[in-house]
Amino acid sequence: TQFSELGLSKPLLKALAEEGYETPTPIQAKAIPGVLSGRDLLGIAQTGTGKTAAFALPILQRLADDRKPAPRRSCRVLVLSPTRELATQIGDSFKTYGRHLGLTVAVVFGGVKYGAQMRALAGGVDVLVATPGRLLDHMEQKSISVSATEIFVLDEADQMLDLGFVVPIRKIVREIPKVRQNLFFSATMPGEIGKLAGELLKEPLRVEV
Ligand code: AMP
Repeated sequence: TQFSELGLSKPLLKALAEEGYETPTPIQAKAIPGVLSGRDLLGIAQTGTGKTAAFALPILQRLADDRKPAPRRSCRVLVLSPTRELATQIGDSFKTYGRHLGLTVAVVFGGVKYGAQMRALAGGVDVLVATPGRLLDHMEQKSISVSATEIFVLDEADQMLDLGFVVPIRKIVREIPKVRQNLFFSATMPGEIGKLAGELLKEPLRVEV
């Protein structure tokens, strides 16, 4: 399979060529067409499999195909990530793959001041990548709302469980519109994570690599 056969648009294919990506990894080949069609996804995959591009590429395309301004202090896509490092990497991936699309990406995580994060979100963003604790803090201070989220991604769900983020995640999810696309990734499926996936996902495409 080639990237050009997966239904991705020219600006994305150009960015991939610039990054030196020649062929999709197995999770990319399986997940990209399904996510482009709007389906929910359950991805069972470790880091290193190319899973970030497997969700970032079709999400960027869906945003670009249906451009509209995100409301103030809101996002169109919310990605939850367990750590500052992973959130930063995911944000960088969205920026790299989306560099010819003119979409906006913001990253928020704990351990730093609020001001710059609030300013980054003030005008609304297409993609917000966040760690759960800091996102909840922003929601409580009304500096971020997730009520305009169209696509919700939960990455590294099993790590989220280990870090005690399942309760904050449920609080966040309650504020997201019910009609949305959900993408859920975990390297392993312990019982509590299978339960969370069952609550979040509707007839998901299941991809295991
Ligand atoms: P991930 O599993 O998302 O953490 O990605 C692992 C690494 O593989 C990252 O450094 C990506 O830049 C790289 N990568 C992802 N997809 C491809 C691809 N199709 N071809 C070459 N490198 C890739």
